[in-house]
Amino acid sequence: MEAIEWWKKIDAISPNIKMMEMGPTDAGFPLHLVLVSSNNDLNLKSIKVKKASIIFINNGIHPGEPDGIDASMLLVKDIILKKYKLPVNIVLAIIPVYNIGGTLNRSKNYRVDQNGPEEFGFRGNSQNLDLNRDFIKMDSKEAMTFAKIFHFLDPDVFIDNHVSNGADYQHVMTLISSQHNKLGGVMGKFMKERFEPALFELMYKKGFDLVPYVNHFGPTPDEGWPQFWDSPRYSSGYASLWNTFAFVPETHMLKPYAQRVSSTKALMESFIEFTSAHSGTIQQLRAATISNQKTQIQFPIAWKWDKTRSTPINFKGYEAGYKTSEVSGLPRLYYDRTKPFEKTIQFYNNYIDTLSVTAPKAYIIPQGWWKVIDRLKANNVAMRFLSKDSIIEVESYRISGYQSGARPFEGHHLNTNVQIETSIKKISFRKGDYVIPLNQKAARFLIETLEPHGEDSYFAWNFFDAIQGQKEGFSDYVFEETASSFLKQNPDVKRRLEERKAADTSFAKNARAQLNFIYQNSPYYEPAHLQYPIYRLMK
Ligand SMILES: [Zn+2]
Repeated sequence: MEAIEWWKKIDAISPNIKMMEMGPTDAGFPLHLVLVSSNNDLNLKSIKVKKASIIFINNGIHPGEPDGIDASMLLVKDIILKKYKLPVNIVLAIIPVYNIGGTLNRSKNYRVDQNGPEEFGFRGNSQNLDLNRDFIKMDSKEAMTFAKIFHFLDPDVFIDNHVSNGADYQHVMTLISSQHNKLGGVMGKFMKERFEPALFELMYKKGFDLVPYVNHFGPTPDEGWPQFWDSPRYSSGYASLWNTFAFVPETHMLKPYAQRVSSTKALMESFIEFTSAHSGTIQQLRAATISNQKTQIQFPIAWKWDKTRSTPINFKGYEAGYKTSEVSGLPRLYYDRTKPFEKTIQFYNNYIDTLSVTAPKAYIIPQGWWKVIDRLKANNVAMRFLSKDSIIEVESYRISGYQSGARPFEGHHLNTNVQIETSIKKISFRKGDYVIPLNQKAARFLIETLEPHGEDSYFAWNFFDAIQGQKEGFSDYVFEETASSFLKQNPDVKRRLEERKAADTSFAKNARAQLNFIYQNSPYYEPAHLQYPIYRLMK
């Protein structure tokens, strides 16, 4: 790979650069990380002691969108040639190319609508996964290595460089900022009121009129659009769980490649300039948020788009019209570049939280659920073992409803609309089961992944689907005798059976259904069915 060779060469000649192999990828090649500093200190511990801010830049997660790969090389070249002065309080940490498998899978035909470069890498990685949906479920080795890098760096600012699809307009660069209500607290406020506006201003001075990522769902963007919702499956949503200011620049696919690369470079310089000027504030806000979350009682886990509140923005579009399609003979949309316009439109950038959960003191996870444990370990989550078999009173969830996606999405059939019933139970745990306290830096990550009704929880991503299948049952002719004597000893169940028969004629005619009703209300019914196996220790 030429890009990696280039970075190796630079690493060899410059004391400002350190390149490291950080772990495996599905492509069989190692994932590299490059550290860049202006004062030759590339030791992470001493960087943190000196309170330099770390800006972490990811490139090529979608290899057909390579603007950041080239822009990062140009930026670092300028730093080494002293054409651009990297402030002493900033350290850059750059992944030169994240999706290596997709980058090696090249074609002139990929990204059919995009204006350059000459050849494109492919969006899927070596397992055909979209790596920008993989940060929680971690089906790829890339995601495992990324988590290791992320926690090694603990970055103050994270940037994931992309190229957009969609409408035509004049802006070269658009930006997704991690959603500010979801980021929440003092960081969300700073993001919306200080960080974002400053980036727009800095980019304007550099000759690029930045606009929020054009996320319209009408036919054209002329009427405004909602802010992109970056749930934790996405890079910026994942970074936000760890209280890092996260952004996804998206250049416009129809602009010439050189222009896109220079706007990506200008935006990275804008991040450097703002972060350097507000380094202390950014670090204080992060530290305060991390410290608060260790004792936070309520955590929101669901949000909905607020259609009533918006922020006016200046949009430079092209007039759209309809003409007859040569393909279908039906009306087709086109943008007329001879008719540019500029107008104020509404950016609907607010979301309201709709569901909160009370943080437990700790979660207890039986050791059999090691796939989840492995993902927590990959994220540096602090945990301890039970030192002996113990019966512990915990809050427990029973899954009372959910829907599974009919079609696979990124190798999964996502569970949504999850409903739970909560009860207090005494559960037998075994020596070696995991206790995961909430008074740690990972608090928010734990809540959003372990609460089953979280949008990107491990339950949503199918890690607990096995509890949805009943493993035991009964033979009607044998269970008849057991059921009959059970009813005699349990008049309450008998009464409920009779009520159901009276209310539901098809039930009254169905012997199997009646036996099953008794079975499900008897101690013979397996406790594990629909019992969510992660328990909440409340005191
Ligand atoms: Zn992309």
